[in-house]
Amino acid sequence: MLSLFLRYAKKALLVLLIGTMIAGSIMSPANKSELETMYTSYAVENYERQCEIIVRAGEYEGKAGKRIYVNNCTVNLPDDIPVRNDGDGKGFYVSEWDINVKESKALIEKLQANGINAKLQIAHSKSEDLNAAGRIANKSNPKLYISIHHNYHESNSTGYFSMYNPDNEQSEQIAIRLSNAIENNSQVPRRNCRPNTGYIGEMNVINDSTVPVLLELGFFSNIEELEQICSDSYVDYVSSNLAKEITLILNEN
Ligand SMILES: [Zn+2]
Repeated sequence: MLSLFLRYAKKALLVLLIGTMIAGSIMSPANKSELETMYTSYAVENYERQCEIIVRAGEYEGKAGKRIYVNNCTVNLPDDIPVRNDGDGKGFYVSEWDINVKESKALIEKLQANGINAKLQIAHSKSEDLNAAGRIANKSNPKLYISIHHNYHESNSTGYFSMYNPDNEQSEQIAIRLSNAIENNSQVPRRNCRPNTGYIGEMNVINDSTVPVLLELGFFSNIEELEQICSDSYVDYVSSNLAKEITLILNEN
């Protein structure tokens, strides 16, 4: 009797499992976009404009994969960029998040000095990253959403660039203007602006009432460029000139 029951239970479990897998593969993409659409229309109707601009420091504290290990090299960094160690045997690293935070704070300070109602967005955990970051920003419904990042690729990769949503004319125009604004920094060369073809989490869920631009302000995987993008002089140049251009843009609208 018991063995018969067990055999039946096993079969039922298997059927349930396969059923769930099939339903999951068919249902989840449709459900996801449906949910996002619902969220967006809800947000547009209900959230008041609470600030003119949000500056997001991309990534979150301690995010794996967004770091450069510096065990085998000498690297000169200012005091406000920590060399971290998780005690996991991998050694010492610099986190993209720390660099993003430094640049974002400097930009916010300068915008506020210009009389702009600017808010800083910083994530401390995975739950506030990617799409979630965009949804959090939507609640403040800013005119502009600037997400600050630095790039990781080859050890000799170099350059900064901006990214825009291709279906949003203003996003492209502002991306170009912000790139132009920091062209003469004499440290990190300019690259062409790029469209976000759907893989940048925070830009995919931003409301139509907000113009998003993502800035990749240099390659931290290149040690020479890492030192430049962390330096007070680069951060000061970039934040000053971005703040100047953003203030112009906000005063035009
Ligand atoms: Zn990033």
